[in-house]
Amino acid sequence: MFKKRSVYRSERRSSSGVSAAALLVFLGAVAAGVWFLMRDLSGPSVTMDPPHSGRMGIAQSVRLSMDDKSGVQSVAVTVRRGAQSMIVLKEKYAELEKHREAVFSLKDTQLPEGSFELEIKAQDGSFAGFGFGNSTTLRLPVILDAQPPRIAVKTMPPSIRRGGAALIVYTVSEDVDRTGVRLGQSFFHAFRQPNGSYACLFPFPITYKTSEFFPEVLARDLAGNVTSSRLPVRAVNRTFRSDTLKIPESFLNFKAAELAQICPEKSTSLEQYLCANSKERAIDDAKLIEIGSDPARTSPSFLWTGRFLQLPKSAVKARYGDFRSYVDDNRQKIDEQTHMGLDLASVARAEVPAAQHGRVIWTGYLGIHGNMVLVDHGMGLATQYSHLSEYSVQVGDEVQPGQIIGRTGTTGLAGGDHLHFGVLIGGIPVEPLEWLDPKWLKNNITDRLNTPL
Ligand SMILES: [Zn+2]
Repeated sequence: MFKKRSVYRSERRSSSGVSAAALLVFLGAVAAGVWFLMRDLSGPSVTMDPPHSGRMGIAQSVRLSMDDKSGVQSVAVTVRRGAQSMIVLKEKYAELEKHREAVFSLKDTQLPEGSFELEIKAQDGSFAGFGFGNSTTLRLPVILDAQPPRIAVKTMPPSIRRGGAALIVYTVSEDVDRTGVRLGQSFFHAFRQPNGSYACLFPFPITYKTSEFFPEVLARDLAGNVTSSRLPVRAVNRTFRSDTLKIPESFLNFKAAELAQICPEKSTSLEQYLCANSKERAIDDAKLIEIGSDPARTSPSFLWTGRFLQLPKSAVKARYGDFRSYVDDNRQKIDEQTHMGLDLASVARAEVPAAQHGRVIWTGYLGIHGNMVLVDHGMGLATQYSHLSEYSVQVGDEVQPGQIIGRTGTTGLAGGDHLHFGVLIGGIPVEPLEWLDPKWLKNNITDRLNTPL
């Protein structure tokens, strides 16, 4: 009996075990199905470039970036104004990719100026919504703005010397997301002043002739409308000195290890020197522009007042713009370059003071410059201290005028112990003597910046 009951019970138990297992499988299947359907419950994320500002220009291109874990299936952009609507973009993708980009503009809409609604609808490829997928719909109120901003230049130096600098102050009739001075491929950012005007410091690079120097002031509003106009600035040429720099065998021997490090692909010291003087110089110039043209690295206002300081008790050994011919022991010309700063010599390992109040934006070893410190003084202006034997500041340090930041030396392409002092605007070297001259500074920079509107 006992046994039988036991069997019976065990049978019952086993039958309930079967149904429990079936239930578990069923629940598992339901969970998997729910997970399958529910794993992606949201439509694609959609971002706009430029970001939505509430204003659009008729010719402005807007790039949509869409991301979805199930893949982006389609996108449509519709413009609505009153009862009218028009599709300006419609894409259906044959393959589901997690990231898609699409571009649209209003140029074919013939929309009049004024307000309209922009509808952006993106659909993913998930099985949610009975296989129709999830969608994201953005309905954005937009004003069509066909008017470019108006620029009024308030003050500008009457002339700018080749290799020198200028500051202009101007106003713009509406909010802008980009403004400054454009010169060829270079752009010098302007910075908003407390009174609402913009100030822009820009150079007349020594690499430009007066006949090529056509700076333009430019402003782009939030709808992408751009105004640019030629600045009526008088470009003044000046002559620069020429000198001959001897590169004796002894110098090449002295620099052998450092030259081998800068240009390891060359075999002789002379080849390495020539390589460093041309190829490495170009790399270093590009690096200075990369650092100096980044508006995020510079203070939006000047950090200094008064004049810039020269290395104390120093003699000027070479000037900005000196056109140098390099000759070997046999007086054979081996190279030529333009010198882009002021070479100042004092005693060996002389203490180097910061020329003005500022913030250290770069320290390290940079090719021909050797150990170098760059100090930002605001609005794209920086001072450069090269060939240092050592430096005692780091990036982010605030420095006071006269504060010791390092010691002179011979690192990089320096024969004797000296300081190469550079002044840079947007990373482009300009005439340092202007910044050491209180009268020039007052007339060309500070008085202009403080001109009432
Ligand atoms: Zn130098």
